[in-house]
Amino acid sequence: MERNAHEEQVDAVVVGAGIAGLYAIHRLRRDGLTVRGIEAGSGVGGTWYFNRYPGARCDVESVDYSYSFSEELQQDWDWSEKYATQPEILRYIEHVAERFDLAREYLFDTRVVSADFDAGTDTWTVRTDRGDVVRARFCVFATGSLSAANTPDIAGRDEFAGETFHTAHWPHEGVDFTGKRVGVIGTGSSGIQSIPLIAQQAEQLYVFQRTANYSVPAGNQPLDEQTRRQQKANYAERRRLSRLSGGGSPFSPRPVGALEVSEEERRAAYEERWRLGGVLFAKTFPDQTSDLAANETARQFAEEKIRELVDDPEVAELLIPKDHPIGTKRIVTDSDYFQTYNRDNVTLVDLRSTPIERIDPTGIATSARHYDLDAIVFATGFDALTGSLDRIDIRGRDGRLLRESWSAGPRTYLGLGVDGFPNLFLVTGAGSPSVLANMILGAEQHVDWIADCIRHLDEHGYATIEPTVEAVEDWLAECAERASKTLFPTANSWYMGANIPGKPRVFMLYLGGFGNYGRICTDVAEAGYKGFTLTAR
Ligand code: NAP
Repeated sequence: MERNAHEEQVDAVVVGAGIAGLYAIHRLRRDGLTVRGIEAGSGVGGTWYFNRYPGARCDVESVDYSYSFSEELQQDWDWSEKYATQPEILRYIEHVAERFDLAREYLFDTRVVSADFDAGTDTWTVRTDRGDVVRARFCVFATGSLSAANTPDIAGRDEFAGETFHTAHWPHEGVDFTGKRVGVIGTGSSGIQSIPLIAQQAEQLYVFQRTANYSVPAGNQPLDEQTRRQQKANYAERRRLSRLSGGGSPFSPRPVGALEVSEEERRAAYEERWRLGGVLFAKTFPDQTSDLAANETARQFAEEKIRELVDDPEVAELLIPKDHPIGTKRIVTDSDYFQTYNRDNVTLVDLRSTPIERIDPTGIATSARHYDLDAIVFATGFDALTGSLDRIDIRGRDGRLLRESWSAGPRTYLGLGVDGFPNLFLVTGAGSPSVLANMILGAEQHVDWIADCIRHLDEHGYATIEPTVEAVEDWLAECAERASKTLFPTANSWYMGANIPGKPRVFMLYLGGFGNYGRICTDVAEAGYKGFTLTAR
């Protein structure tokens, strides 16, 4: 849509109209700040705006994956399923934007290209691809952890004459694969969720798998009125437990290690979590992702399940992950994924034994044969946590570029601030629990902390806040030490930056748990923003 370029001055710029950005607009505006939101998409929703592939569904229960800041909102909204689909989550976010009148603060279809800090005036200048210039005291980057899509540079990629899609940029009108020969590259969450539905439509589906992933059935079900009533009556307690928990939902691991219980008890526990569905399986026992022997018990259980679900033992063998301990990459939450390989029209192509050599106008050639295709779906993931920020020229003190400051891995204090970048805040990014916890509660916790911080600055006559180099170094060391005590660094995961060629290999998240992390942030604020330098106006 044509529009004139904006030139304006506000208190805070918020980049992104996903779950985090919308709440930032709401909270900062409520605190009396003038705000400007900027969003690349044509509407609100962030992740849930862009990822419209068939089968897209959240892997956290709907009742937990929803805003907690408004009691009326959480009592009014009715989720129809245990795990909501993308269209329902997008409807919910649109409802929130309308209910709190948030969209009017945004420039949509607008991408931020640069943000420059001027130390003379303590002001950020944000420029967009539409020629807008917005000056602000504070910049809040709510750009998402998984928003910079990754399309691998496979030889001949752009020569394919059929249709190509990326799961993270799915056409809004949907895609009809009826009668088509389709190739899906990638078997992470996006691939595993979309494959069963594409298989139902396509004449022939080829799944190009480089690395098998662990996946647990969602155990999804419609929510009836009685369940909803019970959940809503108990919401306060549910939220309290979530905020204390490791992962931001009201479920905790058993209090004992996997090897401290009998074989019978262990199996029963895994069976119960398997039935409960989804990622919670990774947290059946507290030592599952820190002790290889404990992990092995969970891994064996998952392996048996895969063998039960897949008819052809050779295909089952290929679908059993062998390169990483279970839970060290995000466990996928699926609906009939493994059973899909029992269909006559689905073929699993093992790229470990027969790698892709090139894409050509008619399909994909592996070292073994050529696959004739009408469509290729890239379910190839994201340049996670840093990718969306790397694509913007963010310059802090002395013109220092953020992506250069982060060339050896993201440097943050608490995942909230960056040394050398005053008055810049990140939401649910690197250095925080981020994707390891419920992203909505995580976003609320960060935004509330940021808004309280800005209020503190204003009330005490401060112009800027910025973490010290020491605080950043200490926090990086803390994150690295926590990671080193677990099995996470042993996996080639996107948590480690391992999915993007040339990206530094560091574990980018805080593994100490959502509850602990929240307490640390509160303590830092209560100690007068310990670890930050505050400068007077
Ligand atoms: P992903 O987990 O990074 O998976 C990408 C897939 O593409 C992997 O199987 C990868 O194989 C493959 N791939 C990448 N480059 C390739 C190449 N050159 N040749 C062949 N295969 C290639 O990405 P994702 O599935 O989009 O999921 C990312 C994250 O988003 C998830 O872990 C989850 O946190 C989130 N997500 C959540 C949901 C949900 O909650 N419902 C749904 C979707 C996504 P390799 O492993 O061998 O690199």
